[in-house]
Amino acid sequence: MTCRATPVANVDWLARSRAAVWHPCTQMKVHETLPIVPIARGEGAWLVDFDGRRYLDAVSSWWVNLFGHANPRINAALRAQLDELEHVMLAGFTHRPVVELSERLAALAPPGLGHAFYGSDGASATEIALKMSFHAWANRGRPEKRGFVSLQGSYHGETLGALSVTDVPLFRDTYAPLLRRNATVPSPDARLARGGETARDVAERAAQALEAHLAAHHATTAALIVEPLVQGACGMAMHDPHYLVRARELCTRHGVHLIADEIMTGFGRTGTLFACEQAGIAPDFLLLSKGITGGYLPLACVLTTDDVYGAFWHDDAARGFLHSHSYTGNPLACRAALAVLDVFRDDDVVAANRAKAARFDAIAAPLRAHPRVRFLRRRGMIWAFDVGTARPDFARWCFERGLAHGVLLRPIGRTVYFMPPYVIDDGEFRHLCDAALAIVDAA
Ligand SMILES: *Cc1c(COP(=O)(O)O)cnc(C)c1O
Repeated sequence: MTCRATPVANVDWLARSRAAVWHPCTQMKVHETLPIVPIARGEGAWLVDFDGRRYLDAVSSWWVNLFGHANPRINAALRAQLDELEHVMLAGFTHRPVVELSERLAALAPPGLGHAFYGSDGASATEIALKMSFHAWANRGRPEKRGFVSLQGSYHGETLGALSVTDVPLFRDTYAPLLRRNATVPSPDARLARGGETARDVAERAAQALEAHLAAHHATTAALIVEPLVQGACGMAMHDPHYLVRARELCTRHGVHLIADEIMTGFGRTGTLFACEQAGIAPDFLLLSKGITGGYLPLACVLTTDDVYGAFWHDDAARGFLHSHSYTGNPLACRAALAVLDVFRDDDVVAANRAKAARFDAIAAPLRAHPRVRFLRRRGMIWAFDVGTARPDFARWCFERGLAHGVLLRPIGRTVYFMPPYVIDDGEFRHLCDAALAIVDAA
């Protein structure tokens, strides 16, 4: 039998994909009519299909990519690691990339977060922080502190524990009977400003609601979990750093852990390496994932304090943190993360992004002026706006229109956002804004 090479344009496997692969966050029946986009390769900010059509990855492939697809520096680091060690279990064993990564993250993060626990993805980081917070209080003789508080519109992942602190109805409502009840407090979303209020006023109003909640419930509350500065999955709701300052002060006053979920906001997304820096605060737990490996490999890291770590230090095994994932601290993923930190250092990425974002704001000016565009907002390298349209299917319609314009956009409801890889250049950003303008015009 001869083996014939299939021409790349003839993607016969694609026809089978719909049955064999169950896609995430998808009603599969929509793919009866909506084609699935087969990607052959990526380069920089672009994804390329088998016919050579190119799509600008304006959402960084679900918020993970930082320095472009097929980045030569991350590729080289991974190749080198492959020849040394692909994986070893992290219980009883260690390796150089995980030690280096833990030390470098602790040095870069807000002060006092010197202990790194690893997981496999964002949701596992949330699970780790919730369990660790509860267990730390239990080990300190406070087992009744087992409630959690999150913000309205919060998103912290979709496994059962993470979903129980998530407040996005689409993800939560169906599974609500499986979830433990937790409290939600008002969001400091700046769009909620009432006549004359500034973003800071909204933050203060939300902080007062948090204050009332904690005053009443601190004795049974283990932790408050927040997405600092930008609540992503509920529609890029942005808030003033003042909220974080107040949340830190209230958690400290009431003996409640503060969990900062920087799974999306971390690694420069909001204009500083970590969003917490803009409020000058340090949380008790810092959750990292997504951009940590530049979008190459799944990895999550939970950084915590001496105080939490100390609560587990004991001769009794059951007082240790009994949590594990098979791929905890995978060396390839850690090596990719080290390469990402090298790029941040060598290219002074945070400062470069600041200059870039200012230029991009000028390019986006026609969008801001469009009569259907509301609340055009930016934090760091995230732009978002709400579209005044009556289309009930706007998100899907916009996604399809985007593909026709050569851009990957994935609106959340009627909110369109750009969260591009940092390697995007001015011409590419202009292409993105032009496409968005044409789409908004037609909406
Ligand atoms: C994406 C995200 C998560 C969940 O991460 P997964 O890797 O998708 O499980 C949690 N929190 C925030 C803020 C996120 O944006």
